[in-house]
Amino acid sequence: MFSNAEIGIDLGTANILVYTKSKGIVLNEPSVVAIDTRNNQVIAVGKEAKEMVGKTPRNIVPIRPLKDGVIADYDITAQLLKEILKKVSKVAGVSMRKPTIVVCTPSGSTSVERRAIHNAVKSYGAKEVHIIEEPIAAAIGADLPVEEPIASVIVDIGGGTSEVAIISFGGVVSCRSVRTGGDRMDEEIIQYIRRKFNILIGVRTAENVKIEIGHALIDHKEESMEVRGRDLVTGLPRVITVTSTQVQEAIRESLESILATIHATLESCPPELSGDIVDRGITITGGGALLHGMQEWLEKEVHVPVHLAPNPLESVAIGTGRSLKMINKLQKAVK
Ligand code: ADP
Ligand code: MG
Repeated sequence: MFSNAEIGIDLGTANILVYTKSKGIVLNEPSVVAIDTRNNQVIAVGKEAKEMVGKTPRNIVPIRPLKDGVIADYDITAQLLKEILKKVSKVAGVSMRKPTIVVCTPSGSTSVERRAIHNAVKSYGAKEVHIIEEPIAAAIGADLPVEEPIASVIVDIGGGTSEVAIISFGGVVSCRSVRTGGDRMDEEIIQYIRRKFNILIGVRTAENVKIEIGHALIDHKEESMEVRGRDLVTGLPRVITVTSTQVQEAIRESLESILATIHATLESCPPELSGDIVDRGITITGGGALLHGMQEWLEKEVHVPVHLAPNPLESVAIGTGRSLKMINKLQKAVK
């Protein structure tokens, strides 16, 4: 028998992923749209659009419509979603005949934003659309027992935001979000290199530096890396060597702000659930969880076990797709 596709979409601030039950992750692309400002046409979405960052003529601007975890522009977000769904059916060969689609949105999103996403997806021909909150999807994707009356703590360190949530019995008991994540770290690296070396580097270079030699606030064996940028004094291109200790110093503030958010969330935990957290610890996910030493550092700071989700960059999408079978039991799912 032919069955309609069940599709889960992780609408992240940095990356959009699409998961289907039969094929797993079928699409994973940056949440970037390139717009021609002369006529507001979408020129490219996803990987192609990210490639354009910092390299295009003035009239073509790459936009990240979800950058801060809130939807800055409905129109562009809707277009992004539609182009992504088109790619899924074309490239990944997923049948788009009246699919059931679950989208997970940042937990700070308003009901108006959720409605806008719902409508954009629905207008693509979806039979049913469900919206679920990101922390729940993240927890399901990390195999935490979300439906049980046991506290699970999920820390999702994304591009634009980091979210910390305590989940129990299918709902969010307590949740905090900060607009600090991987993007802020990239920005801090740019500022640091500018101050220290008088060199201007691009966002993508900064992201590479972070991924290659960035470390959470732990002792580590120092590494270094060559970085290319523009000398602000001579105006000429220059190569410098940056060390991991310098990068660590650069991103210190972001890391401390993420830690403070974890502390604040744990402090707001109902006492009956605190015991679960002591025993079961917290799970970190999202791209930022992959920073070298993150797990070790948090364990040292929070004094409970810290687990790394199996696929930090994919677990929210996987959880979103899997949530369908338990959607009726999840408390805050809105139709
Ligand atoms: P979102 O859910 O907000 O789209 P993601 O969970 O996809 O975000 O994470 C994206 C962020 O994770 C980016 O800032 C990216 O630079 C960062 N990131 C990805 N891989 C790593 C890594 N190995 N080390 C440190 N940061 C990483
Ligand atoms: Mg995410």
